[in-house]
Amino acid sequence: MRVLAFLDGTVAEPDDPCVRATDLGLLRGDGVFETVLVENGEPRELGLHLDRLVRSAWMLDLPEPSETDWKRAARQVIDNWRGDGEFAMKLIYTRGSDAGHGSAPTAFALGLEITPKMMSERSEGIAAVTLERGIEPGLAVRAPWLLLGAKTLSYAVNMAALREADRRGASDVIFTATDGSVLEGPTVSVVMVRGRTLYTPPPILGILPGTTQAAVYRGAERAGFTAKIEMLSVDDLYAGDGVFVASSVRKLTRVHTLDGKVLPDASELHRELSAAYEAGYA
Ligand code: PLP
Repeated sequence: MRVLAFLDGTVAEPDDPCVRATDLGLLRGDGVFETVLVENGEPRELGLHLDRLVRSAWMLDLPEPSETDWKRAARQVIDNWRGDGEFAMKLIYTRGSDAGHGSAPTAFALGLEITPKMMSERSEGIAAVTLERGIEPGLAVRAPWLLLGAKTLSYAVNMAALREADRRGASDVIFTATDGSVLEGPTVSVVMVRGRTLYTPPPILGILPGTTQAAVYRGAERAGFTAKIEMLSVDDLYAGDGVFVASSVRKLTRVHTLDGKVLPDASELHRELSAAYEAGYA
């Protein structure tokens, strides 16, 4: 099941050719995107996703996306989705096919099914590995042209890291900076819990501000937890009571094993935090 809607609201057949071979998103990965979770016909955190899309587009000098148009395209996908249950909706925004010669960006929303593996990992937890990202903590601020912290379509490195995790028998990655500090995963934020306090690394390191992490933080604070944004080392992860990855598609997923070492059982913590997160959408 897939549903495609362009930014002008037209619904199209996703298996038909509809992007030019000269599209710079295709040729150079020159564009930005978002992946939104849709559950019970409602897009979760659409406002935060659109804010991040606008920020990513600004970092790439793309024309400012119109939130009204994106909301209409998103609604078209949701209204035309015939499948059961939740799905993932990608918002894709590229520089278009003839940049500099008046051509408009390519922009569409695409609804996609969530894989059964992803669904079962939400309840069973995952093994993760730490992998070097090769960036130092100050780089994002010093070198904005590296686009660290923009959600660009250039995800080949992120996908290669996930294949490396797979070769090592794990399902996800926690990237580390050159000083060993924890960053994020290729498609997830990292959250560590110690006692009743949640920790996640700051976006200034050149990582994405996670919409799911933000929603988990809101829920956790309502449930009496303290939520902090602080730098973390890999040793901090081992010293915690629970390590989680968070994304729109993963929701909050428990990491049970890190680099082959079994972490403390955080099933109860996972249940409590997931309930607090879901309560925001009840
Ligand atoms: N970090 C990266 C690099 C991502 O690609 C994503 C989402 O795909 C996230 C974090 C988590 O963001 P969100 O919770 O908004 O899905």
